[in-house]
Amino acid sequence: MKNIAEDLLNALVDAEALYEDAPCGYLSYLTDGTIIKINRTLLNWLGYSREDVVGKIKVTDFFSKGGRVYYEMFYYPLVQMNGAVKEINFEIFRGDGTSFPCLLNSNAIKDATNRIRAINSVVIDITDRKKYELELLNAKKFAEQAKDQFEFVADYIPEMICTATPEGTITYVNKRFSDYLGLPTVQEWAPQIIAAVHPDDRSQSLRTWIKGMRLGQSFQLQMRLRRYTGKYLWHMLKCVPYRQNDDIVKWAASCLDIHDHVTEVEKRDEFIGIAAHELRTPVTGLKLSLEFLSRLTAEHGDARQINILERSSRNIEKMKKLIDDLLNVDRLKNGQLALEKTTFNIANLLARCSETMGVRDKVNLRIEGDTGETVYADENRVEQVAINLINNSLKYAPSSNEVVLTIQSHPNMVEVAVIDHGPGIAKERIPYLFERYYRADHSGVSYTGLGLGLYICAEIIKRHGGKIGVDSEPGQGARFWFTLPR
Ligand code: ADP
Repeated sequence: MKNIAEDLLNALVDAEALYEDAPCGYLSYLTDGTIIKINRTLLNWLGYSREDVVGKIKVTDFFSKGGRVYYEMFYYPLVQMNGAVKEINFEIFRGDGTSFPCLLNSNAIKDATNRIRAINSVVIDITDRKKYELELLNAKKFAEQAKDQFEFVADYIPEMICTATPEGTITYVNKRFSDYLGLPTVQEWAPQIIAAVHPDDRSQSLRTWIKGMRLGQSFQLQMRLRRYTGKYLWHMLKCVPYRQNDDIVKWAASCLDIHDHVTEVEKRDEFIGIAAHELRTPVTGLKLSLEFLSRLTAEHGDARQINILERSSRNIEKMKKLIDDLLNVDRLKNGQLALEKTTFNIANLLARCSETMGVRDKVNLRIEGDTGETVYADENRVEQVAINLINNSLKYAPSSNEVVLTIQSHPNMVEVAVIDHGPGIAKERIPYLFERYYRADHSGVSYTGLGLGLYICAEIIKRHGGKIGVDSEPGQGARFWFTLPR
């Protein structure tokens, strides 16, 4: 047993075996290149037998023509001069004509008179290394191409784009952005961009930016941005956070030129304002004439005439409401909606509205809650808001036979809510309800309106320093609420 183990150990450390089966090729040859010794590893790589090689082939026979010239002109003279040469790249040809790349390390074997008698070489196959090098090179090329492509796209897309750190420091702006600002080499972008925002839009834009960053949610803002020519153009800045494992690692933003769109909207608003003003006088005249005619007809007219006049009056009333909404929007836009504030009891105001509207629409309007509360506000404008909300619940929830108006006291505010049991509102529509001209679809049913009522309500409440909102789910009715300072 012991002998077998010793034999095995001896075999393992046998120098001859180490030489023959080393992971590299060993080769010894005379100064004229004639091979005198070669190990098994190299013979296997080359596909020759020992008898084919030893004493018959020269080392240079394994090289290409160019390799041979290189060996004679540089390699061998170097071995002569230095006694050794390390890691020179050669292409070695096998017996079947194929080849593989290798590194050749050589040492000169000298006699006592310092004459070179032979050369020992170590051959290292670098096929795999070459393959990795090629893969690496290709990967680098690919990365460079991708980078070029990204830089091209980033610089030449029609939009201006930038990135920022999680804290909001701008780290990159594309060429279109820097060209727009006329600041191609600036690195400190944030102060330059803030300086380019129109002074009237600056503080609001900054507030939105800081709030958006703090909340870590996508946000957008509209602002006028100064071009290098000095002209301000309207832009829409949209910012989106990029997260990794729930943490924001970067912000990406695009800044789109919306100047033409904003100008078009302004022209449209201007036209609507003018049209509403022009329509108001004839409609008021028509309304008065109809009222006069109604009174006359009530005395001598027949039932058919009375009916026609009543319908005409209702239609004129609707038309007047639409024109009033348009005029209100025009006034709000031009800052002409002055508030005349007084302190008044909010329940009394709601009672007044419900009386007329409840009788008109034959609906039970119930007032609940802290009915003793007073608010400091413009009574006419608050009445306008209440009428709008009640009108909407009667219009959009016609099947609910009661609408509840609640008053709730809060420390500094009073909250008023109008609650109906109608169809409710889809969640995705809620964020847009208070926008100008927004109208939700009511599956085929068409209601008169311009999508301005809630916008006007929101503007009036905002100007009082209050808040407005809605809680609703489809099929569960709607609860429109607003708050006012006490
Ligand atoms: P308008 O009634 O003129 O269309 P509003 O600004 O008053 O405009 O309302 C905007 C939209 O909100 C309406 O088109 C309607 O779809 C929706 N809405 C308002 N009130 C209610 C309500 N009580 N129930 C369901 N939908 C409502």
